[in-house]
Amino acid sequence: MSIDKEAELRAILDSAGIETKAIRAGQLRTEYGSHGEPIFATSSFVFDNAAQAAARFAGDEPGNIYSRFSNPTVSSFEDKLAKMEGGDKCVATASGMAAILATALAFLQQGDHIVSSRSVFGTTNVLYEKYLQKFGVSTTFVDLTDLKVWEEAIQDNTKYLFLETPSNPLCEIADIKKLAELAHNRGCLLVVDNCFCTPALQRPLLLGADIIIHSATKYLDGQGRSIGGAVVGNEELMAEVYGVLRTCGPTMSPFNAWIALKGLETLSLRMRAHSESALILAEWIQSQAGIEKVHYSGLKTNPGYALALQQQSAFGGVLSFVVKGGRDAAWKYIDATRLVSITANLGDTKSTITHPATTTHGRLSDEEKQRAGIEEGLIRVSVGLENIDDLISDMQRGLSAL
Ligand SMILES: *Cc1c(COP(=O)(O)O)cnc(C)c1O
Repeated sequence: MSIDKEAELRAILDSAGIETKAIRAGQLRTEYGSHGEPIFATSSFVFDNAAQAAARFAGDEPGNIYSRFSNPTVSSFEDKLAKMEGGDKCVATASGMAAILATALAFLQQGDHIVSSRSVFGTTNVLYEKYLQKFGVSTTFVDLTDLKVWEEAIQDNTKYLFLETPSNPLCEIADIKKLAELAHNRGCLLVVDNCFCTPALQRPLLLGADIIIHSATKYLDGQGRSIGGAVVGNEELMAEVYGVLRTCGPTMSPFNAWIALKGLETLSLRMRAHSESALILAEWIQSQAGIEKVHYSGLKTNPGYALALQQQSAFGGVLSFVVKGGRDAAWKYIDATRLVSITANLGDTKSTITHPATTTHGRLSDEEKQRAGIEEGLIRVSVGLENIDDLISDMQRGLSAL
């Protein structure tokens, strides 16, 4: 495309809807005219002459050098996701955990402190408690929805606040705007893991957050095909994260970037469908005997309903519920299903079912489980894209076993 046309397209995309950004931002055209983005399966790039190599290395001339630094397929995914989140820049990573680690390495040093929601992805807990602790970085874990405890937990050495909203598996909602204000008043950054909503449903940067974390493994790919991650934010912050990637190496592979960028093209459609089915399923489960409670922020009785309505455009695809009869009943329910997959993964076209107390949250002590609301009868479902009547029938199979 000519330079003029490219500039015009960029201007169109700046004000375009997220569905258009998902498809057209970061599109990669080559001299061969391929319509689909190619996979640049190359470790390094050649230069026309020694002077060009020197200019690239010195940063005087833009361009690729080596795929640990940058790669056109990876850049295409990064440009698309950055536009969708409303950020200046995205840095793609090998996994969601690599995104969280790269952020920590970029902004923390010995003696620093994080305030994190207690209900974050289990491995994030382990990273903070076991590994960052080894390097003299401490973390205080707080209840996601209690602004006062966030405020009290901030210390002089706190560098950032970290959270996921909605939380997993209880679908609690944090007030991103208020937490961003709190963080900024105290000289901290707000980091939001936006894995559950994705930019299709929630854009935390526009609500004041500074950094977005993604596990591209979940909804961004959306079809359970690969592992990947991303960090999104402004130029200045992302320059720090990029420095970590280039030096430490947990970069996204071109093949995984290609899968994730194809996933992004259909993200809005999929998230709408996941959310629609999850709401129908949550309402249906709530109306059944044998169920103690349903956790889904799309239910009007849910404490997070009003806030979710305010900061999300739909309620997402993950819900959980408590069956009467504790662990035995929960296991019976899960084992009686046939269609949904028994796996702890989520964000897939395939619906999944899991028993958090003995899988994702199994390493917590009984006291910690109680505190986190992980009851023995709790079951989590990540609602996929199967026909909703078939999903209801499968949930009925579970109920019939109780
Ligand atoms: C899965 C997940 C991660 C970690 O991502 P990986 O790609 O598995 O490393 C981080 N945060 C949330 C909310 C997740 O669900």
